[in-house]
Amino acid sequence: MAVEQYADNLDSMAGVEFYSGILCAGFVNAHSHIELSYLRDAIAEGGGFAAFAESIGRVRGNFSEAERLSAIEEADKAMWQEGVDAVGDIVNGATSFTTKATSPIHYHNFVEIFGLRECNLERQRALLKYPNTSLTPHSVYSVSDVSFREVCSADTDKPLSIHFLESPAEKELYRGCGSLHEWYSRVGFECDFLHHNSPAERIVECIPSDRSVLLVHNCEIATGDITMVLNHFKAPVYWVLCPRSNSYISGIEPRAVELLRRYDRNINICIGTDSLASNWSLSMVEELKIFHDIPLAELLLWATINGAKALGIDDKYGTIEVGKHSGVVNITGVNLENFALTPQSKAQRVL
Ligand SMILES: [Zn+2]
Repeated sequence: MAVEQYADNLDSMAGVEFYSGILCAGFVNAHSHIELSYLRDAIAEGGGFAAFAESIGRVRGNFSEAERLSAIEEADKAMWQEGVDAVGDIVNGATSFTTKATSPIHYHNFVEIFGLRECNLERQRALLKYPNTSLTPHSVYSVSDVSFREVCSADTDKPLSIHFLESPAEKELYRGCGSLHEWYSRVGFECDFLHHNSPAERIVECIPSDRSVLLVHNCEIATGDITMVLNHFKAPVYWVLCPRSNSYISGIEPRAVELLRRYDRNINICIGTDSLASNWSLSMVEELKIFHDIPLAELLLWATINGAKALGIDDKYGTIEVGKHSGVVNITGVNLENFALTPQSKAQRVL
């Protein structure tokens, strides 16, 4: 690939193709669970966070292996066609690796640990034989103390990807109230990590400061949480927003975005789609449309280079430059007068 500037009249040059819209680098979807694609339309919208987590457990067994595999294939193709170059994908089993072995999309696979009782990590460690895999705890409310510390302090340069403050129930759990606390009490789950006092404290007290981390969702984040996290880490912290998933599950507005931008205009924000269990599609452009007050140029950085940096692949992806492997995406339906997405905006891969 070459990137050049032309002063001449391009109309008269042979081999030049013209596109209506704007061209940008291929997208990096910083947070998805492609293996849950078979759950599209399986869980009702708006049930709230604890009900969603419980529903996933209930409906998981209702689908055949063939249905799971074809849903993953379809989701992978749709992401590629929309212009997604790379995905930070959460993995619980081996189902998605058949598709990933031949997909043109680069996947970083975060093999997820969860369990409130002492958990044996052997089943998850077995998945590390697949390419681009590393272990990560699911969240600060669903992993026992020993396993959380063990995974976070592993000697590796791979980032962690942790679901963080998706719902008020996470902070409430540490205070002994709320829907997670009620659920856990009802089924007899015990937590051995509540001495950390809050989700943010657990993060900074258990993760070495030189380990890069993607914190995913951040819906209920407060300024004090951001300060605590940023004061601790020397390695970069990436704040991944998945606004349509939050809307699907809990009907909440993406308030965190303004708080993060006000805190530091150059804070590392990335975009994820989460899974088809909690979203209508895995479209990066549909996620960006939610942030209609934010300049499009800034949104495109979140959806491209910031995600590439978070996954440690910015030497290959995230910007259109000679020597990189980024795709080229055409976004149509853009209001070119104020440079903003419209409800009609769509993205399609050109290269
Ligand atoms: Zn997720």
